[in-house]
Amino acid sequence: MKSQWNETAAREMLEAYAAEGVGPDIALRVYTTRLLGGDPLLVLHGGGNTSVKTRASDDLGEEHEVIAVKGSGADMADIEPWGLPAVKLEPLRRLRALDTLSDESMVNVQRLNLLDSSAPNPSVETLLHAFLPHKFVDHTHAAAVLALVDQPDGEALAREVYDGRMGIVPYIAPGFGLAKAAAQAFEEKPDVIGLILHKHGIFTFGESAEEAYERMIEMVSLAESRLRQGRPIVFPPRSLAPTLAAAADIAPIIRGAVALKSKGAEPTRFIAAFRTAPEIVDYVNGAELSSYSQRGVVTPDHIIRTKNKPLLVPAPEAGQLDAFSDAVRDAVAEFAADYDAYFARENAAAGGTKTKLDSAPRVVLVPGLGLFGIGRTAKDAAIAADLAENTIRVVTDAEAIGRYEPLPESDLFALEYWSLEQAKLKGAVAKPLTGQVAFVTGAGAIGAATAKALAAEGAAVGIVDIDGEAATRAAKEIKGLGLQCDVTKPDQVKAAFTALCERFGGVDILVSNAGAAWQGRIGEVSDELLRKSFELNFFAHQTVAQEAVRIMLKQGTGGALLFNLSKQAVNPGANFGPYGLPKAASMLLMRQYALDYGAEGIRSNGVNADRVRSGLLTDAMIKDRSMARGVSEAEYMSGNLLHEEVTAADVANAFTALAKARKTTGHIVTVDGGNIAAALR
Ligand SMILES: [Zn+2]
Repeated sequence: MKSQWNETAAREMLEAYAAEGVGPDIALRVYTTRLLGGDPLLVLHGGGNTSVKTRASDDLGEEHEVIAVKGSGADMADIEPWGLPAVKLEPLRRLRALDTLSDESMVNVQRLNLLDSSAPNPSVETLLHAFLPHKFVDHTHAAAVLALVDQPDGEALAREVYDGRMGIVPYIAPGFGLAKAAAQAFEEKPDVIGLILHKHGIFTFGESAEEAYERMIEMVSLAESRLRQGRPIVFPPRSLAPTLAAAADIAPIIRGAVALKSKGAEPTRFIAAFRTAPEIVDYVNGAELSSYSQRGVVTPDHIIRTKNKPLLVPAPEAGQLDAFSDAVRDAVAEFAADYDAYFARENAAAGGTKTKLDSAPRVVLVPGLGLFGIGRTAKDAAIAADLAENTIRVVTDAEAIGRYEPLPESDLFALEYWSLEQAKLKGAVAKPLTGQVAFVTGAGAIGAATAKALAAEGAAVGIVDIDGEAATRAAKEIKGLGLQCDVTKPDQVKAAFTALCERFGGVDILVSNAGAAWQGRIGEVSDELLRKSFELNFFAHQTVAQEAVRIMLKQGTGGALLFNLSKQAVNPGANFGPYGLPKAASMLLMRQYALDYGAEGIRSNGVNADRVRSGLLTDAMIKDRSMARGVSEAEYMSGNLLHEEVTAADVANAFTALAKARKTTGHIVTVDGGNIAAALR
C-alpha cells in the first residue's frame, strides 16, 4: 500500500481552508481523512473514523481544548469541517473514571459538550479517540489487517507481524468498554504507534496528521506483506454444469424470492445489484464455499449492512431455471428460518428487549457467476455488494495464510441490534415506491419528467431513448441507468432489460412512453409511413411489455404496465390517422395485458395526455397551430375546460399515481385539462 500524502496538495488544502477561517489542525485532519476514506482497502461505507485534538472557542469567546472527531453522516472520502464536530475534551476524559456508562449517557455527554449544538452526532468510537493522548488518531477497518486478525491465532499473528510496535487489544464491542481497554493497552506500552483491535481493525496515532497517516500506511503494508506469503490457489474449485444461465436471467428470480410478501399489500421489494470479477468467481466456485462463506462478517459493523451470513444458492444451469427458482425459494425460506432462530436465541440471552429486523438476506453468492448485493434502495444494494467484495478479499487472504475465523454470532448480535449502530441507517424513510424498479422508454419531456417523479417516490429507474445522450442526461439527475435503445428493435430492447436486471435486479414498473406522431390523410398516406408508425406506436409497446412481463413473472411479485396512449385513440383528429390508429391498437393492447395477466398481479393501465409541450408538440408547432386558429400561444395551450396548460410533470404525476394504484387495472387516466369530446365513458 502506497502513501498518497502529497505535500503540495496538503498545502493547498491548508490555504484554501485558511481563507474560510478554518485552522490548520482541521484542514489537515480533513486532508488525511479524505486520503484514508478514498481507499476502499482501508475504509468502506462508514468503516473508520479520525480525530484531532485542538483548541476552539465557544460563543462566549472562551477557548476550550476540544476533540474534533468524525460525525455520523459524514463520508470520510469527501469529508468537510462540519463532518468533524468539536467536543470539549475535558468532560470526555473524566468519564474514564467511571466503571460503566450506558450508551444513552455516552451519547448524552458527547452531545452536551458539543461547541455547535446543531452538529452531527460524534462517532460511536469518540471516547476511544478521546482517552488516547495523541493529537491525531486514525482508525480504519483495513482489509489486510482484518485478514490477519480474523484467524484463530490472530492475536499471535499480529504480535509476530508488528513486533512490539503496535498494542494488541482483545475483542470488546465498540463503546465505553472498548475505549477504556484501548487506553489501557496503550498505557501498558506507551511507545507503541498504534493499536490492533482483534477481529475489528486498526488505530494509528501521531503528533501530526502526516505522522498518523504514514503510520497507518506502514502498518497496513506490513500486514499485506505477511499475506503475500500465503498459498497461491486458495479455493480448490468444485465442478459446475457446463453451461450456466446469465446473471440477468436469474436476477429477477432472486429478487422475487427475497421480497417480503404480505397478503393484500404491496410486497416489500429489494434492489439486487450484480457484481462479478475473477476473484469473486474463484471464491463462489470453491468446493468449501458453504464452510468459509458462512463464518460471519469480517468486522462487526458490516453486520448492519450485510447481515452476518450471505445466502448461498446453487449454480444456475442454463435451461433449468424452474428448478433453480424452486431451489432459490427453498434457500431463502431456510435463510429466514435460521435468521429468526438466531434472533430468538440471542434476544432471549440479551433479555428479550429487541425487535426483530426483517429476515431477508443482503448478499447472495451464486457459484459460476458472482454475487448480488441486496438493499431496499439502489444505494443500499451497492453498499452491500461493496462490502461483500471486501469480505471476499479478506476471507481469501485469511484462508491463504491460515483459517478465516471471525467473531462468533453471539458477539455480533449486540452490534447488529445496538441502537447506536441502527441509528446509522435511520433517515432513509421508505417512500411509496422504495425497492421497486422502473423502466421508462423515451427520454423526452414526458419520459424524463416521469423518470424523475418515479425516482422521487423511491423507485430505482432505468430510462432509454434512441438518443443515448438524452437518456444518460435524464438518468444522471436521478442516479438511474440511462441507455441508448431503439425500442422498435427487439434485440436492443432485450439488451436494455439485461442491463437493467444486472444493475437493479429486475423490473416492477414499465412506462412504455416512446412515440412519435406521423400525419397524413388516411386515404392517401403511404403504406410505408403507416407501417413505420405502427412499428413505434404499437409494436414497440408490445415488445417492451412482453419483455417486462417475462421478468415480472419470474419475480412473482406482480407489477405495473403503463402505456402512454393518446387522445387520438378515442377522439381522432383530422389527418392524424397514422398516429391515432396504432395508438388505438395500443389502447386495446393495454386492456389485453390487464385481462391476461391480472391473475399474476400484473396491472395494466394507460394515460391519455393532450397538448403537452414535448418532442411531439414542439414550440414551432405550437406557434403554427395557434396562428392558424387565431389565438395566442398561451390561449392555445390552455384551450381546455380548466383553462390551464397541461405540463409534462402533470402527465408524470398520472403515471406515478397509476404505478401506486394497487387495485386499478385496465384503466385510462386522461390528462388534458378537460376536453368533453375526448372524455372516456
Ligand atoms: Zn471500528
